Amino acid sequence: MDCIFCKIREGEIPSYKVYEDDHVLAFLDITQGTKGHTLVIPKKHVPNVYEVDEDTITHVFTAVPKIARALKKAFNPIGLNIVNNNDRPLQSVFHFHVHLIPRYEDDGMVLSTKNNFGKIEPETFIEITQKIKDSL
Ligand code: 5GP
Ligand code: ZN
Repeated sequence: MDCIFCKIREGEIPSYKVYEDDHVLAFLDITQGTKGHTLVIPKKHVPNVYEVDEDTITHVFTAVPKIARALKKAFNPIGLNIVNNNDRPLQSVFHFHVHLIPRYEDDGMVLSTKNNFGKIEPETFIEITQKIKDSL
């Protein structure tokens, strides 16, 4: 299969592995957006959050806090972001992965959400809520 992360799992592409168990692998992101920027992947090839099964996501998110705690202990960041991108153009590698991004003072990393507080009417909240619930 032509998947970079499967190749990393198989050792066909080298990586700096920080954690491994039967179901999960974690290695340094090649770009090191910040010091310690780590990717956590299931060993099983799953393209994105829409297709991940319960066991696989459980394995991944069982490992995530372990690695987060290790990053905190190792580098004493001021905080840590957890990011998961799905679908183009946000996602560039189509093997599910979770970014752990330790944050530091003036690290230049931009990760922000837009704040529309006060601009959305209650009816719109109700409409959005209903639409999601109807889609579950
Ligand atoms: P995405 O945009 O899909 O959420 O993130 C994919 C991530 O994979 C990017 O941050 C990119 O730096 C990382 N990446 C792509 N190719 C490789 C590689 O060969 N080795 C490692 N360690 N990371 C990679
Ligand atoms: Zn893969």
